[in-house]
Amino acid sequence: MEERLQMKEIFTQTIEADWLQQRNITLNVLRLDKIHSVISGNKWFKLKYYLLDAIKKGFTGIGTFGGPFSNHIIATACLCHSRQLKSIGIIRGMQPAQLPHTLAAAQQYGMKLYFVSRTAYKEKDIVRKKFNSFYWVNEGGYGIKGATGAREILAYCSSPEKYSHIVCAVGTGTMMAGIITKAKANQRILGISIMKDNHSLIEQVRDLLATRDENKSYKILHNYHFGGYAKHPQQLIEYMNKLWQQHGLPTDIVYTSKVFFAIEQMVTENTIPAGSNVLMIHSGGLQGNFSLPAGTLYF
Ligand SMILES: *Cc1c(COP(=O)(O)O)cnc(C)c1O
Repeated sequence: MEERLQMKEIFTQTIEADWLQQRNITLNVLRLDKIHSVISGNKWFKLKYYLLDAIKKGFTGIGTFGGPFSNHIIATACLCHSRQLKSIGIIRGMQPAQLPHTLAAAQQYGMKLYFVSRTAYKEKDIVRKKFNSFYWVNEGGYGIKGATGAREILAYCSSPEKYSHIVCAVGTGTMMAGIITKAKANQRILGISIMKDNHSLIEQVRDLLATRDENKSYKILHNYHFGGYAKHPQQLIEYMNKLWQQHGLPTDIVYTSKVFFAIEQMVTENTIPAGSNVLMIHSGGLQGNFSLPAGTLYF
């Protein structure tokens, strides 16, 4: 299946900076964004086992849910297109006069979009029953199959056990659950919530873990959301441009820029102690930057 997607090389990038060197901290970034420009980063891993299940059970299409800027929606559309499957996206909110980039691109991959009010969106079961010939995937790919795919992420970096800290973005917590499952007992997993005050996330993560993994060392941090989901104040845009200029590292406005920022803060505040060996998961999502006016970013 990987070959059909023409998966590209995932690699780890070492970040060099004074704030790291002064504290003898190593920071490597696992560049999952390199997999595919659309089914980028963690979305490939999270969708894989849903797709295989849908095909095995003979479904001819996949349906899922998301907001207007959802990387999950566009990844599902593109993946289905590559496998000649139909796709449906139930989108939260009223249909805008002009479709945002993500949805327009999903539509180009053949996804049928249905806009539902926020109230109807909450009643997902009613919506999905209307299309019961489709294989339904939760919003954001949340669930055991998504986490099972995410367990494969760490295998893409060499000696993952050497890291003392692994830091990733948290939307639904599916990726984080997969990473916790593969982490060693002495590794600390830090999840950066990109939503404001979404404190039920920790339960969501725990629900995807086996009992033996519940005692591993993990934590979700809630103070790096920059105002909330997809909020990108000028300070964040400038930070992203700086990361590009100084490290050649492209980040996205929703997830990965906030993760890098969190790491820098934690290092400079010594929350991540001197001598640590840190792995950041670059979970992709760069297509989301197309929603910015041209020229906002240097990359
Ligand atoms: C979807 C997404 C996430 C969130 O993953 P979850 O498994 O839902 O927590 C993180 N980073 C990027 C770039 C994403 O597109």
